[in-house]
Amino acid sequence: MVIVMNAHATDEEIASVTDRVEALGFHAHLSRGSERTIIGVIGDERPVDPEVFEALAGVERVVRILHPAKLASRDYHPDDRVIELPNGARLGGGQIEVMAGPCAVESREQLEQAASAVATAGVRILRGGAFKPRTSPYSFQGLGEKGLLFLREVADDLGMAVVTEVVSPQDVPLVGEFADILQVGARNMANFSLLKAAGGAGRPVLLKRGLGSTIDELLQAAEYILSQGNDHVALCERGIRTFETSTRFTLDINAIPVLKQLTSLPVVVDPSHATGKAELVGPVALAGVAAGADGLLVEVHPNPREALSDGAQSLDPEAFATLMSSVRSLAVALGRKAA
Ligand code: PEP
Ligand code: MN
Repeated sequence: MVIVMNAHATDEEIASVTDRVEALGFHAHLSRGSERTIIGVIGDERPVDPEVFEALAGVERVVRILHPAKLASRDYHPDDRVIELPNGARLGGGQIEVMAGPCAVESREQLEQAASAVATAGVRILRGGAFKPRTSPYSFQGLGEKGLLFLREVADDLGMAVVTEVVSPQDVPLVGEFADILQVGARNMANFSLLKAAGGAGRPVLLKRGLGSTIDELLQAAEYILSQGNDHVALCERGIRTFETSTRFTLDINAIPVLKQLTSLPVVVDPSHATGKAELVGPVALAGVAAGADGLLVEVHPNPREALSDGAQSLDPEAFATLMSSVRSLAVALGRKAA
């Protein structure tokens, strides 16, 4: 349930409603919007009559939110949420922000080449995996802490922010030291202890949809992070498993407008993992933007043929620069801005 305060509610009225919520054994989650404050009642509120709150001073109305992902819902937070990073990059709020870089950090030199190529094309957020969740235990698992250090140093040299994956709850503090955004990968979307740890890390989280997960399950996974007090979550559609075998996964294009309806969290599209094929990345990326995505996550490698992971879906710098210019043209056609 959410308690919508009236536009002129005083701080005292807001505090007394919050006290009442907590006295009844719930957690009160405050969201100060541009017009009014909304108080989320967190916990199992089914036994409570909304009238308990409706009678309090300053309360305009009480709305029961039936969807289990309350904090994620647009009912709770109607305005688009924006994640602002220290270097000026922003996820959400209208403009299209592109995150790009190699699937995995392989060496300092490889990362520098990839990062300088994507930065030249206008990218402000560098991606790269240091801890890689690989299907086979014999595949390259990533450089670990050394990879994190390379990401931070290379990004700092170029004025970029860093997004990188964390695969275990114990690594959250370490990854949080180096990264601006923690990525929770598709295979870990339902790893609830990781979600809780990421929620408490004090860093924005990029949450990828599980390959066999519904939109509802994705929203409830986001709720785990939000309910830890972390309001900065971006969702990523990266393709789901279907009967189709001509691409690695199938991008659920419907998910983008559906998510934009259900939630005000930023929505990002990953055309690289969705297709698994470099030649399909451009068209699918543009489809994602046209469907309303707030950003893209794209794998770029200085020499895709030599990549230690996901070479087949990685763009080379030239193909990536072409994609960026198409994204900008499309943004103009849509009346939006590309960062
Ligand atoms: C990635 O982005 O590096 C990745 C492993 O993607 P996913 O979790 O979507 O498979
Ligand atoms: Mn990859």
